[in-house]
Amino acid sequence: MNENQVKELKSILTQPKKITVVPHKSPDGDAVGSTTALKGYLDQLGHEVSLVTPNDFPKFLKWLPDADLFINVEQQPEKVEEIINAADLIFCLDHNDLSRTGELEKYLVKSKADFVMIDHHQQPGDFAKYTYSDTSMSSTCQMVFHFLEMMQAIDVITPAMATSMYTGILTDTGSFKFSSTTSTTLRVAAALVDNGANPEMINRRIYDTNTPNRLKLLGTALNNLVVLPEYRAAYITLSQKEQDDHDFKKGDTEGFVNYALSIDDIVFAQIFLENKQEGIIKTSLRSKGTFNVNKMAREHWQGGGHNNAAGGKSDESLEDTVTKLISILPAYEKELLATDI
Ligand code: 5GP
Ligand code: MN
Repeated sequence: MNENQVKELKSILTQPKKITVVPHKSPDGDAVGSTTALKGYLDQLGHEVSLVTPNDFPKFLKWLPDADLFINVEQQPEKVEEIINAADLIFCLDHNDLSRTGELEKYLVKSKADFVMIDHHQQPGDFAKYTYSDTSMSSTCQMVFHFLEMMQAIDVITPAMATSMYTGILTDTGSFKFSSTTSTTLRVAAALVDNGANPEMINRRIYDTNTPNRLKLLGTALNNLVVLPEYRAAYITLSQKEQDDHDFKKGDTEGFVNYALSIDDIVFAQIFLENKQEGIIKTSLRSKGTFNVNKMAREHWQGGGHNNAAGGKSDESLEDTVTKLISILPAYEKELLATDI
């Protein structure tokens, strides 16, 4: 967004509008946090703000301020269509392509509203009139903070908004561990704490929420771990049956892939989750150092993301999907072995 666009948007926001805010499919902490924080700001300007979501999100995010206000297209498609049709302005947060909005996409593409994109993923699409895209950012929540700075609205940050933004920064940086954590990220986090975010409470509500079943599912996942030291790679599978046996709930497998990546000298890890309902294998890819999983996800897994964290899917069986991984690894061998960590 250049200076003129910032001015233009600021001026648009001075008049009451119908605004819809949209996260990506399977919203994570950054998507829910950025969406609810932005709503807090737009509410104060007197807009009529609706939050719509492509599908449900995990219980450990449900406590976030205003998280109960999301209208889920899977449950209320007509209402969602009505909201999107009536919108003057649509904010797309934590995604840079409408294909990431699942069932919402077909309504969004028909909308006459102006789009605003705030996002930190690679290769942004050009559907938005106002695009604030920065792939160096830790999180969309950090970008919402900078967006508020651009709008000269830092003083409107409530404890609820601070809590939402801190949550997304915490989850997208792996608790301030990933290389995307800059001194600015930490300054923003500090400002959010000054404005009422409580790090202990947020951390507890996000991470100390295990059920016995989830821990046992993690046990199964770790049992299924396969290490390929010759490629400095490791992968984990979880079949639909293994998930069912542990009463799988959305979000239960969040972070499992990081255990594979935590092995000494492993620079690439992948998890494969069988989803019989969708007829796909959902996959998450993670890496250390310069090994680029966004590229691999785009080339082989119908997905994308960031250099060190990406996702995608496979339409083949779980077994054939693993065979596919083994068959593509030789093409990355040189890169994997050369990765400096
Ligand atoms: P996760 O593996 O935690 O689901 O996602 C890691 C990163 O990859 C996130 O930034 C997410 O937005 C991105 N991502 C996950 N799944 C997909 C996908 O199917 N397509 C694309 N383009 N990106 C994805
Ligand atoms: Mn994000």
